[in-house]
Amino acid sequence: QTSETSQGSGTGDSCGSSTEQSGFTVVVLGPPGVGKTSLISQFMTSEYVAYEAGSIDRDEERTISVLLDGEESTLNFIDPSRDEVDLDETIVDAYLVVFSTNDREAFEVSIETLFQLRNELGTDKTVILVANKIDLARKREIGIEEARAAAHQYDCKYAETSAALNHHVDELLVGILKQIRLHMENREP
Ligand code: GDP
Repeated sequence: QTSETSQGSGTGDSCGSSTEQSGFTVVVLGPPGVGKTSLISQFMTSEYVAYEAGSIDRDEERTISVLLDGEESTLNFIDPSRDEVDLDETIVDAYLVVFSTNDREAFEVSIETLFQLRNELGTDKTVILVANKIDLARKREIGIEEARAAAHQYDCKYAETSAALNHHVDELLVGILKQIRLHMENREP
């Protein structure tokens, strides 16, 4: 079975009111080393995963089916720095902008990314700022208040995770889907 990245997006026409299983594309952004690959791998092990529809191989799409509120949705995670896909931004439903809390430079990069995304996309898409590696508490350089304020400034949700310890990763996965569904509801006439 083959799967095209451009298939199955929830932003496609007439998907909105469908009770059929819906598919969404989530792009994971952030500089190298912040934990994007680790996060995506941990998503695959979540208790919300109905079944694993795709592969966890680094170079392939990572697609999982998530059961939430009795409804199943497929989330396709793309890391443009690793996945060789021609990213069609019109099919993207959500962006995760990841930094690690022990790396101020990564935080600055993520702020720049938020700025660019909001400039290009307006407020129409789900964007979540993800502070990863919170287990490295003693090395922490970016406090929760500062990070949360940045997320607020760019109209984003904010999440703190430890991919290494699998802390709050489930909550993030569910949060992504909830935000996407909310956006879709709001878009419907
Ligand atoms: P990517 O380049 O953004 O995909 O980052 P990776 O997922 O490859 O992770 C980079 C390094 O950070 C690896 O050595 C991971 O084991 C480590 N790492 C990822 N997430 C965490 C975390 O939450 N805490 C800690 N301490 N290390 C992490």
